[in-house]
Amino acid sequence: MSIVKFENVTRIYTSGEHELKALDKVSFTLDEGKFVVILGPSGAGKSTLVRCINLLERPESGQILFDGQNLMTLSPKKLRMQRRKISMIFQGFNLLEQRTALDNIRFPLELAGISRKQAKEKALQLLETVGLPDKANAYPVQLSGGQKQRIAIARALAMEPEVLLCDEATSALDPQTTDSILKLLQKINKERGITVI
Ligand code: ADP
Repeated sequence: MSIVKFENVTRIYTSGEHELKALDKVSFTLDEGKFVVILGPSGAGKSTLVRCINLLERPESGQILFDGQNLMTLSPKKLRMQRRKISMIFQGFNLLEQRTALDNIRFPLELAGISRKQAKEKALQLLETVGLPDKANAYPVQLSGGQKQRIAIARALAMEPEVLLCDEATSALDPQTTDSILKLLQKINKERGITVI
Protein backbone atom coordinates (compact mmCIF):
# COMPACT_ATOMS: atom_id res chain seq x y z
CA MET A 1 0.00 0.00 0.00
CA SER A 2 1.22 3.52 -0.73
CA ILE A 3 1.98 5.69 2.29
CA VAL A 4 3.12 8.90 0.56
CA LYS A 5 1.96 10.11 -2.81
CA PHE A 6 2.93 13.40 -4.50
CA GLU A 7 1.03 14.61 -7.55
CA ASN A 8 2.54 17.55 -9.45
CA VAL A 9 3.78 19.20 -6.26
CA THR A 10 5.19 22.67 -6.89
CA ARG A 11 6.80 24.79 -4.18
CA ILE A 12 7.88 28.32 -5.03
CA TYR A 13 9.93 30.63 -2.81
CA THR A 14 9.56 34.32 -3.56
CA SER A 15 11.79 37.12 -2.43
CA GLY A 16 10.87 40.48 -3.93
CA GLU A 17 10.63 40.05 -7.69
CA HIS A 18 12.55 36.82 -7.67
CA GLU A 19 10.83 33.42 -7.81
CA LEU A 20 12.56 30.14 -7.16
CA LYS A 21 10.86 26.85 -7.99
CA ALA A 22 12.32 24.53 -5.33
CA LEU A 23 9.92 21.77 -6.45
CA ASP A 24 8.58 21.74 -9.99
CA LYS A 25 5.64 19.34 -10.55
CA VAL A 26 7.14 16.54 -8.49
CA SER A 27 5.22 13.25 -8.60
CA PHE A 28 6.02 9.93 -6.96
CA THR A 29 4.47 7.11 -4.96
CA LEU A 30 6.13 5.53 -2.00
CA ASP A 31 5.11 2.17 -0.57
CA GLU A 32 4.74 1.47 3.14
CA GLY A 33 7.73 -0.04 4.91
CA LYS A 34 10.36 1.10 2.44
CA PHE A 35 13.74 2.63 3.24
CA VAL A 36 14.08 5.48 0.78
CA VAL A 37 17.05 7.74 0.12
CA ILE A 38 16.69 11.10 -1.64
CA LEU A 39 19.92 12.09 -3.38
CA GLY A 40 20.87 15.29 -5.13
CA PRO A 41 23.27 18.23 -5.02
CA SER A 42 22.95 20.97 -2.45
CA GLY A 43 20.00 23.21 -3.32
CA ALA A 44 18.25 20.51 -5.38
CA GLY A 45 15.16 20.71 -3.15
CA LYS A 46 15.59 17.65 -0.91
CA SER A 47 14.76 19.41 2.37
CA THR A 48 11.83 21.21 0.78
CA LEU A 49 10.47 17.88 -0.45
CA VAL A 50 10.87 16.25 2.98
CA ARG A 51 9.18 19.20 4.72
CA CYS A 52 6.25 18.96 2.29
CA ILE A 53 5.58 15.35 3.32
CA ASN A 54 4.23 16.51 6.70
CA LEU A 55 3.16 19.89 5.32
CA LEU A 56 5.70 21.86 7.34
CA GLU A 57 5.85 23.57 3.95
CA ARG A 58 2.66 24.05 2.00
CA PRO A 59 3.09 23.78 -1.77
CA GLU A 60 1.61 26.36 -4.14
CA SER A 61 0.01 23.59 -6.20
CA GLY A 62 -0.33 19.84 -6.45
CA GLN A 63 -1.59 17.18 -4.07
CA ILE A 64 0.09 15.39 -1.18
CA LEU A 65 -1.54 12.17 -0.01
CA PHE A 66 -0.51 10.55 3.25
CA ASP A 67 -2.00 7.20 4.17
CA GLY A 68 -4.68 7.76 1.54
CA GLN A 69 -5.72 11.20 2.80
CA ASN A 70 -5.18 14.44 0.91
CA LEU A 71 -3.26 16.57 3.41
CA MET A 72 -3.92 19.76 1.46
CA THR A 73 -7.66 19.63 2.12
CA LEU A 74 -7.75 18.35 5.72
CA SER A 75 -9.07 20.45 8.60
CA PRO A 76 -6.38 21.59 11.09
CA LYS A 77 -7.57 18.91 13.54
CA LYS A 78 -7.44 16.07 11.01
CA LEU A 79 -4.07 17.31 9.77
CA ARG A 80 -2.73 17.13 13.35
CA MET A 81 -3.95 13.54 13.57
CA GLN A 82 -2.19 12.59 10.32
CA ARG A 83 0.97 14.38 11.41
CA ARG A 84 1.15 12.22 14.53
CA LYS A 85 1.98 9.32 12.23
CA ILE A 86 5.12 11.14 11.06
CA SER A 87 8.26 11.80 13.12
CA MET A 88 11.33 13.70 12.11
CA ILE A 89 15.03 13.81 12.99
CA PHE A 90 17.41 16.59 12.02
CA GLN A 91 21.06 17.36 11.38
CA GLY A 92 21.23 19.40 14.61
CA PHE A 93 19.44 16.75 16.75
CA ASN A 94 17.16 19.41 18.35
CA LEU A 95 17.33 17.93 21.86
CA LEU A 96 16.24 19.95 24.89
CA GLU A 97 19.53 20.82 26.58
CA GLN A 98 18.03 21.26 30.06
CA ARG A 99 16.54 17.76 30.08
CA THR A 100 18.21 14.40 30.47
CA ALA A 101 18.19 11.81 27.67
CA LEU A 102 15.33 10.00 29.39
CA ASP A 103 13.29 13.19 29.79
CA ASN A 104 13.90 14.15 26.16
CA ILE A 105 12.43 10.83 25.04
CA ARG A 106 9.60 11.08 27.56
CA PHE A 107 8.66 14.60 26.47
CA PRO A 108 6.37 13.81 23.47
CA LEU A 109 4.66 11.07 25.48
CA GLU A 110 3.87 13.44 28.32
CA LEU A 111 2.60 16.06 25.87
CA ALA A 112 0.26 13.36 24.54
CA GLY A 113 -1.10 12.85 28.06
CA ILE A 114 0.54 9.49 28.80
CA SER A 115 1.21 8.90 32.53
CA ARG A 116 4.69 9.65 33.88
CA LYS A 117 5.19 6.01 34.84
CA GLN A 118 4.18 4.60 31.47
CA ALA A 119 6.19 7.25 29.65
CA LYS A 120 9.26 6.37 31.70
CA GLU A 121 8.91 2.65 30.96
CA LYS A 122 8.59 3.32 27.27
CA ALA A 123 11.53 5.73 27.25
CA LEU A 124 13.72 3.14 28.99
CA GLN A 125 12.76 0.53 26.37
CA LEU A 126 13.61 2.98 23.61
CA LEU A 127 17.00 3.69 25.19
CA GLU A 128 17.65 -0.07 24.83
CA THR A 129 16.48 0.00 21.21
CA VAL A 130 18.97 2.72 20.30
CA GLY A 131 21.78 1.05 22.26
CA LEU A 132 22.13 3.59 25.09
CA PRO A 133 20.56 1.98 28.17
CA ASP A 134 23.21 3.53 30.44
CA LYS A 135 22.63 7.14 29.30
CA ALA A 136 19.19 7.72 30.80
CA ASN A 137 20.41 10.43 33.17
CA ALA A 138 22.96 12.06 30.86
CA TYR A 139 22.34 15.59 29.60
CA PRO A 140 22.83 16.31 25.87
CA VAL A 141 26.06 18.24 26.60
CA GLN A 142 27.52 15.00 28.03
CA LEU A 143 26.79 13.02 24.84
CA SER A 144 28.67 12.66 21.55
CA GLY A 145 27.01 13.64 18.26
CA GLY A 146 26.17 10.04 17.45
CA GLN A 147 24.71 9.47 20.91
CA LYS A 148 22.62 12.64 20.61
CA GLN A 149 21.22 11.43 17.30
CA ARG A 150 20.38 8.07 18.91
CA ILE A 151 18.42 9.90 21.62
CA ALA A 152 16.67 11.96 18.94
CA ILE A 153 15.76 8.72 17.14
CA ALA A 154 14.40 7.24 20.37
CA ARG A 155 12.31 10.38 20.92
CA ALA A 156 11.07 10.19 17.32
CA LEU A 157 9.97 6.58 17.87
CA ALA A 158 8.16 7.31 21.13
CA MET A 159 4.84 8.12 19.45
CA GLU A 160 5.09 5.01 17.25
CA PRO A 161 5.12 6.81 13.91
CA GLU A 162 4.46 5.12 10.58
CA VAL A 163 7.06 7.26 8.86
CA LEU A 164 10.40 8.60 10.04
CA LEU A 165 11.69 11.60 8.09
CA CYS A 166 15.43 12.16 8.31
CA ASP A 167 16.68 15.52 7.02
CA GLU A 168 20.46 15.29 6.71
CA ALA A 169 20.42 13.24 9.90
CA THR A 170 24.06 12.23 9.59
CA SER A 171 25.63 15.36 8.05
CA ALA A 172 27.16 16.50 11.34
CA LEU A 173 28.71 13.08 12.07
CA ASP A 174 31.99 11.41 11.10
CA PRO A 175 31.86 8.53 8.56
CA GLN A 176 32.04 5.76 11.16
CA THR A 177 29.26 7.25 13.31
CA THR A 178 27.24 7.91 10.14
CA ASP A 179 27.51 4.23 9.31
CA SER A 180 26.30 3.16 12.75
CA ILE A 181 23.32 5.57 12.65
CA LEU A 182 22.35 4.31 9.16
CA LYS A 183 22.53 0.72 10.44
CA LEU A 184 20.29 1.66 13.38
CA LEU A 185 17.78 3.27 10.99
CA GLN A 186 17.83 0.15 8.82
CA LYS A 187 17.23 -2.04 11.88
CA ILE A 188 14.26 0.13 12.90
CA ASN A 189 12.90 -0.06 9.34
CA LYS A 190 13.19 -3.86 9.24
CA GLU A 191 12.07 -4.71 12.77
CA ARG A 192 9.28 -2.16 13.18
CA GLY A 193 8.20 -1.79 9.56
CA ILE A 194 8.51 1.99 9.84
CA THR A 195 8.98 3.73 6.50
CA VAL A 196 12.26 5.67 6.61
CA ILE A 197 12.84 8.58 4.24
P1 ADP B 1 18.54 20.77 -0.51
O1 ADP B 1 17.92 20.21 0.72
O2 ADP B 1 18.51 19.79 -1.67
O3 ADP B 1 19.90 21.33 -0.30
P2 ADP B 1 16.54 22.88 -0.24
O4 ADP B 1 15.23 22.19 -0.31
O5 ADP B 1 17.06 23.27 1.09
O6 ADP B 1 17.63 21.98 -1.03
O7 ADP B 1 16.49 24.19 -1.14
C1 ADP B 1 16.02 24.18 -2.49
C2 ADP B 1 16.12 25.59 -3.04
O8 ADP B 1 15.19 26.43 -2.41
C3 ADP B 1 17.49 26.24 -2.84
O9 ADP B 1 17.80 27.01 -3.95
C4 ADP B 1 17.28 27.10 -1.62
O10 ADP B 1 18.14 28.21 -1.62
C5 ADP B 1 15.83 27.52 -1.75
N1 ADP B 1 15.19 27.71 -0.44
C6 ADP B 1 15.06 26.77 0.53
N2 ADP B 1 14.37 27.26 1.59
C7 ADP B 1 14.08 28.56 1.29
C8 ADP B 1 13.39 29.60 1.96
N3 ADP B 1 12.83 29.42 3.17
N4 ADP B 1 13.28 30.80 1.32
C9 ADP B 1 13.79 31.00 0.10
N5 ADP B 1 14.45 30.04 -0.60
C10 ADP B 1 14.60 28.83 -0.02
